Amino acid sequence: MNIKEIGIIGAGTMGTGIASVCALKGFKTNVYDISEQVLNKSHAVIFRGYDWLEENKKITQAQKKHAEKNLYLSSEINKISGSQLIIEAAIENFDLKKVIYSQLDEITSADTILASNTSSYSITALSSSIKNNRSRVIGMHFFNPANIMKLVEVIKGEFTSNEVREKVLEFSRAIGKSPVVCKDTPAFIVNRVARSFYGEALKILGEEKIEAGIIDKIMKEEGGFKMGPFELMDLIGIDVNFSVTRSVYEAFFHDPKYKPHPIQQKMVEAGMLGKKTGRGFYKY
Ligand code: NAD
Repeated sequence: MNIKEIGIIGAGTMGTGIASVCALKGFKTNVYDISEQVLNKSHAVIFRGYDWLEENKKITQAQKKHAEKNLYLSSEINKISGSQLIIEAAIENFDLKKVIYSQLDEITSADTILASNTSSYSITALSSSIKNNRSRVIGMHFFNPANIMKLVEVIKGEFTSNEVREKVLEFSRAIGKSPVVCKDTPAFIVNRVARSFYGEALKILGEEKIEAGIIDKIMKEEGGFKMGPFELMDLIGIDVNFSVTRSVYEAFFHDPKYKPHPIQQKMVEAGMLGKKTGRGFYKY
């Protein structure tokens, strides 16, 4: 495989998890974020994770040292330009992602693979910012926590080449993931199915005055889910989940089935973004 060096854009929840697994699996991993504070936090989270893995005998001390050496974090975008594969995990905002793709078009060579971890946007639409070989843009949708969850949805846009798809599938397997190829439809597979899981739970919360904790408990104990909808929304980030719901609603021409719920909007406005801010449907 000619992929040796990975670039990651965004050192938030997903970028941190993806970086952690790439460095551990032996790839030189360059993480870029606009915020130094976020980069410092990401660095600390990844190193703490490696410590835990070593203490619990999941990796050796040598593996830990090797992974730590593979990791580079920077607030300069040029530091990722030499990577053969760049995984973009910046916030779920279409206009921002398009700006990032224009930047990547300028600083990378025509054969650098550009993968987006977007939860909902069209890969074909994102690739429209790329003038220098659109066929290298692909979707690589990891799941949270990205260092643990095996599934990666690999999304082939209208212009994505088969060669790029094959390389991304090979890379996904090399980092221990189970990739599934999806069509470039809004929210792909899992997030589309999951819209009702969150949406109906929010409606029940709003209409029936049943507590989030009770709904989660029922879904886990009786429904067999590992996490309830409110725990999961807190883990994902209320802002991220709300953006995805809005984007899917737009993409399906306001199909009421996907209508966002005002409870989520209120929480975003209040800064109650879930686990990452210490307060969401639950307190942390
Ligand atoms: P997050 O808010 O935790 O992190 C996003 C990061 O992007 C922040 O650190 C921010 O500083 C950075 N950023 C903002 N503007 C930037 C720019 N111009 N250049 C570089 N970095 C910039 O978000 P997240 O939850 O990690 O989500 C990232 C992406 O992954 C989104 O597209 C989201 O839809 C997708 N995703 C999220 C989840 C989840 O459970 N949170 C799961 C799968 C996919």
